[in-house]
Amino acid sequence: MYGSKFKKLISKQNLFAFVRTYGCQQNVSDSEKIKGLLLNMGCSFVKEKKDADIIVFNTCAVRENAEFRVLGNIGMLKDLKKQNPKLIIAICGCMTQQYSAREKIKSMFPFVDIIIGTDFIDDLRELIFKVFVKKYNISGEFNNNFIEKYLNKKLDENLTVHRDSKIKAFVPIMNGCDNFCSYCIVPYVRGREISRKPEAIKEEIENLIDRGYKSITLLGQNVNSYGKNLNGGMNFTELLREITKKKGDYWIRFMTSHPKDITKELIEEIAFNDKICKHIHLPFQSGSNRILKKMNRQYTREKYISIVEYARNKIPDISLTSDVIVGFPSESYYDFKQTISLVKLIGFSSLFTFIYSKREGTPAAKMKDLISHEEKSKRLDELLKLQREISSEFCSKFVGKKERVLLEEGHKNGLKFAKTNQNITVFLENYNDDYKDKFCNVKFTGHKRQGLTGIIQNR
Ligand code: SF4
Repeated sequence: MYGSKFKKLISKQNLFAFVRTYGCQQNVSDSEKIKGLLLNMGCSFVKEKKDADIIVFNTCAVRENAEFRVLGNIGMLKDLKKQNPKLIIAICGCMTQQYSAREKIKSMFPFVDIIIGTDFIDDLRELIFKVFVKKYNISGEFNNNFIEKYLNKKLDENLTVHRDSKIKAFVPIMNGCDNFCSYCIVPYVRGREISRKPEAIKEEIENLIDRGYKSITLLGQNVNSYGKNLNGGMNFTELLREITKKKGDYWIRFMTSHPKDITKELIEEIAFNDKICKHIHLPFQSGSNRILKKMNRQYTREKYISIVEYARNKIPDISLTSDVIVGFPSESYYDFKQTISLVKLIGFSSLFTFIYSKREGTPAAKMKDLISHEEKSKRLDELLKLQREISSEFCSKFVGKKERVLLEEGHKNGLKFAKTNQNITVFLENYNDDYKDKFCNVKFTGHKRQGLTGIIQNR
């Protein structure tokens, strides 16, 4: 009902929308659905908030800093709203799944029109329509002052996705998480784990490949537990096998893996299946068994090392990346040194490092956190310095070699760039549009802090 009615009205008004995404790839993927929905409603997109009639912020709740940034950015919309009282502002995503954050937004920013939870994207159309008809005096039918929807429900499989890229796509294969790591807010805001049906995933991926997509990343908070709640469904390895039956020239990536659920079967599939990239993002979070227990990660340092040994044995050129938390409550310097020693032992190609961020509502938020911020920063610096040396050594091994890479859209540091199969960034010394959106061969000429440098030699 709202779709066609809104489309007609919107077309008359010629409305422009702006969508900003905070946080992880899952949110990027959700934003693509939001954009698809706005497009279907007849909106066009603008790059600047000041030019928009509808502004949507898709928020992140994983770290306190991300929330502060969102709140600051919502505050800055006040002036835009003054200039254009018809401006429609919608806030959605993980942050709005939390009662405290919703209350904060409502009390601090009464000019926000819509607050909506992660699973209600398909209802955004209806909610925007309700605000729209009121603001534009189209009908007196609706009189909500403030609209919010935030409970969990099943995701709509039929949402149209508006993808920003023509070659790279993110495909969520599941939503939510059952793991309850003690520091993490995700299970509370994204809800319990739900896997999408394999047929729907397969159809979406085959369609993307037919349309020329070359790099497809399967997304889930813990992809290794895919299928657990599907009666008689597939596990993750079987899903990978099934989707890579599709003929074509493409790479499949996935994230995130959990060390407690990754299987030998999966590692063997990565080794033998040439459509699957030789890269695993496997967060270890801490090198100390004592801290891992307090984090409720459900594996030990020894188990993590044994997985890596198995993976390296089967896939000698595998690239491993990871997430690490520094300064978890009660982390001693000895615990931290265990993290340092694990990082040295494994030799990750890159690391995503975080200072522990307290999230209200999680078990870790109740733990005594006596480590000063200064000490946490010192530990982070030590870890970063070590990782810089390791990444540099890792990249130096490629210099002089030649490899097939996928050219990326856009620029990084003013340069065109590509990604290797192992997900290493290559800054290109030569480029012309003939190479655009294609796989090509690159000779690596050197390495710098953020990756490799290279020359395209042919396609
Ligand atoms: S696996 Fe742990 S860290 Fe990852 S989303 Fe689930 S609870 Fe959070």
